[in-house]
Amino acid sequence: MEKKQFQAESKRLLEMMINSIYSQKEVFLRELISNASDAIDKIYYKALTDDSLTFDKDSYYIKVTADKESRTLKILDTGIGMTKEELENNLGIIAKSGSLAFKKENESKDGHDIIGQFGVGFYAAFMVADVVTVISKALGSDQAYKWQSEGADGYTIEEVEKDSVGTEIILTIKENTEDETYDEYLEEYRLKQIIKKYSDFIRYPIKMDVTQRSPKEGSETEYDEYTEEQTINSMVPIWKKNKSELTDEDYANFYAEKHYGFDKPLKHIHISVDGTIRYNAILFIPEKMPFDYYSKEFEKGLELYSNGVLIMNKCADLLPDHFSFVKGMVDSEDLSLNISREMLQHDRQLKLIAKNISKKIKSELQSLLKNEREKYVEFYNSFGRQLKFGVYNEFGANKEALQDLLMFYSSKEKKLVTLDEYVSRMPEDQKYIYYASGDSNERIEKLPQTELVADKGYEILYFTEEIDEFAIKMLMNYKEKEFKSVSSGDLGIEEENKETEEATEQESKELFEAMKEVLAGKVKDVRASKRLKSHPVCLTTEGDISIEMEKILNAMPD
Ligand code: ADP
Ligand code: MG
Repeated sequence: MEKKQFQAESKRLLEMMINSIYSQKEVFLRELISNASDAIDKIYYKALTDDSLTFDKDSYYIKVTADKESRTLKILDTGIGMTKEELENNLGIIAKSGSLAFKKENESKDGHDIIGQFGVGFYAAFMVADVVTVISKALGSDQAYKWQSEGADGYTIEEVEKDSVGTEIILTIKENTEDETYDEYLEEYRLKQIIKKYSDFIRYPIKMDVTQRSPKEGSETEYDEYTEEQTINSMVPIWKKNKSELTDEDYANFYAEKHYGFDKPLKHIHISVDGTIRYNAILFIPEKMPFDYYSKEFEKGLELYSNGVLIMNKCADLLPDHFSFVKGMVDSEDLSLNISREMLQHDRQLKLIAKNISKKIKSELQSLLKNEREKYVEFYNSFGRQLKFGVYNEFGANKEALQDLLMFYSSKEKKLVTLDEYVSRMPEDQKYIYYASGDSNERIEKLPQTELVADKGYEILYFTEEIDEFAIKMLMNYKEKEFKSVSSGDLGIEEENKETEEATEQESKELFEAMKEVLAGKVKDVRASKRLKSHPVCLTTEGDISIEMEKILNAMPD
């Protein structure tokens, strides 16, 4: 038996990879299962064009078997197998992908379900195994081969007996060390958990012999133990199903199963795009705000799948901050089973998908506002603040897209109204969109500054959150109507009683001078006001900043 050497660069690459690419060791199983699934896919694609081959779905499966005694974990597949040359080329040369080559060869047929392409996944096995043994018999070949390696050292290949076509990967699981446990990869429950987590939607059954217990006959405390072969993965992902087959309850169950939240989803968005970019997504607008939503602990993001295989739990790049409340998942066959966050960030497909998703969420919210007002208000009470932050932070088109989703409490309607509704109700002589800031609607209602505007019959929007006025300042105007605080100096209201006011000004000149002296440093000027009805005095500001904003700005650290 001849021992062959890895090339020097490969050796380094292997060490580097084993230690740094994967942040979690458990993904080794995802990689091996994905390879097994690819191997079955290859027979499937071959059968499409080769009449001598038939593809009977039932005879294709993946089986995971752990044996604690020998510390081995076996991943068996009934896929296409590897010849001696393929074992050498695909497993002996790091970063060489037989699957990518297969895809290229078969470009005309649709081989796009195949996951592999980087040619590194297989080596993830060395994160948990001291020895990796591959026994494989290729389709159409009489001889099977055994490939074996202890890692960077190289590998051996020899002839072996194997009846059926396919591959068995046998990992000799490492012993526990002081800081790392490996025993878990021999535990049935843990393996099931990893399969469920990453490979639930692999299209072929992933089987395991699962220990079952049933009460011994005639005894209530004793059990018979036996094993039963079970399929662990659910295979058909809900997002690949037809929307018309699915009920609200199916979506709600998925939301709960995935632990997206403890509430119920207020709305689900099921997207299937099949154009220049292809992806499926199921997104949810939650009913309630997560308890940690406005804390540092909160992480936005969607689950990201590459053709049914989970790549990332929370892909932040898929969601803009102003929609950070959205939960859900995206699956795309155009994304490679990628290996690092850095690579994903630069993925053009991912950017396109993110843009597309953002648009969909916006239009869903718009239709919710239009057609299910009550639900929208519920949503807005939970997450409206995030939209306002969006208006404050975003530029250009994004800002404009968000402004129609904003709502404020109206002095006239006594409920939340949109800016569009406000503007459409404005009398012709009204120049501005008026707002008043304060701690609560009740307190704003009593502000003397609101009197003149309200008396004119104009509607006032009540700003009770700190962000409100800042967001509106960034908007500057809505449908060409500027925003105006009721406490600003010039309200833009026709001065009907200019003469009386001037008279008052004259009469009270001495009084005002005296008041100014007493309040020196606290007010800039004391003047007769034309906006008061039932209140004796009110404060106003000069320029653009309202009293409320001044308070916030003054409270900020320099
Ligand atoms: P990738 O899957 O990205 O191509 P891997 O390192 O996971 O890279 O695998 C390298 C290559 O080894 C695959 O492209 C495939 O050709 C071959 N291979 C791995 N596992 C199997 C398997 N179970 N059956 C057949 N071929 C396999
Ligand atoms: Mg692979």
